[in-house]
Amino acid sequence: MKHDPSRAIFEMKQFGEYGDVNPSITDSATYTFLQAKTMTDTFHGEAEGCFLYSRHWNPSNKYLADVLAAMEGTEEGWVTASGMGAITSAILQCCNSGDHIVSSVTTYGGTFAFMQNYLPKFNIKTTFVDITDLDAVRKAITPQTKIIYTESMTNPLLQISDIPVLAAIANEHNIKLMVDNTFTPMMIAPAKLGAHIVLYSMTKFINGKNDCVAGAICGTHEFINSLIDVNSGTAMLLGPVLDPLRSSSILKNLHTLHIRMQQHSKNAMYLALKMKDAGLKINYPGLPDHKGHELMKSQMHPDFGFGGMLSIDMVTSDKASRFMELMEMHDVGYLAVSLGYFKTLFSNSGKSTSSEVPEDVQHDMGLSAGLVRFSVGLDHDIERTWKSIEHCLSIINNE
Ligand SMILES: *Cc1c(COP(=O)(O)O)cnc(C)c1O
Repeated sequence: MKHDPSRAIFEMKQFGEYGDVNPSITDSATYTFLQAKTMTDTFHGEAEGCFLYSRHWNPSNKYLADVLAAMEGTEEGWVTASGMGAITSAILQCCNSGDHIVSSVTTYGGTFAFMQNYLPKFNIKTTFVDITDLDAVRKAITPQTKIIYTESMTNPLLQISDIPVLAAIANEHNIKLMVDNTFTPMMIAPAKLGAHIVLYSMTKFINGKNDCVAGAICGTHEFINSLIDVNSGTAMLLGPVLDPLRSSSILKNLHTLHIRMQQHSKNAMYLALKMKDAGLKINYPGLPDHKGHELMKSQMHPDFGFGGMLSIDMVTSDKASRFMELMEMHDVGYLAVSLGYFKTLFSNSGKSTSSEVPEDVQHDMGLSAGLVRFSVGLDHDIERTWKSIEHCLSIINNE
């Protein structure tokens, strides 16, 4: 039976100390022990159910991490103060000085910048490839390679990664496949397809409220324990821990994620079809002419659709800007970076979330200067939204 992330969440039973239906919120940085030996054991990770200090683990974060692990079908999870906190911790945990990464060239701009500009400080080098070109991936691997890095659905080009094949390549070389699943929670469960480590910016769809930044790492017991090892764990020593108050609010939002993803997908599909009919250069993995459409179908849970992300090419950044300003004025949504919000958000990727990627690289990867990325919202009346978009287009075409 196909892994159903929403069912895995539904079956979790977590209660507070008094039978509270929402688990209690930990409001403590430290924890007391009645026996000194238990404290020592906890330090060595040998006291089940005991907490030591909230940077290491805290009960609220554990509740959220347990649900995320169930959703992904991994042994464990760990939650971080941002998506970048999750990505950088996981990468630094796997790489030593002299190591090498093979990464998709289309990734979140911050991830690209970390690999391109920051990791060389530690003599960790990255080769960027077109992740849909599996031969290029194979060829880029060297004896120093420790990670193949990709996003299930890449930002902002919405390419689909072939996770089972990438996992097989990683296994052949005894290295890790790390997958950022931020765009496709519920729809794709990367670990179930063979990925070793799954990463999230929970800032986006998972939380869905745009009221905080947060991230998550899902993987094996062994990997999560190594991350929070008091002597050598990257997460323990760099300290990007999520605040427990936030993690309790994200946990509640996680329980409605399956419904939200269905509505995001339904609305995005509606707009994609209308945009295509209107002759726009539209990119949406749910359309049969999208290069990754069949691949996505083979990897996704069909109940949750093809997601809320789509993009259209307005060719020039000036035209993209004008279009976005008009859409904001005519109540389509907000001109803003980020995604996974209940309102539609749109931004010009080349000038915003991918501006860390140099212009020549943007050009080579096929990122048009006029690309407008949409994160389609939860609009009940999506027909009205489309009429507003059409109106904005007619204004531009008559100028
Ligand atoms: C936003 C985003 C990130 C970074 O997450 P933060 O929570 O902003 O640190 C990483 N990957 C993807 C795909 C994203 O969209």
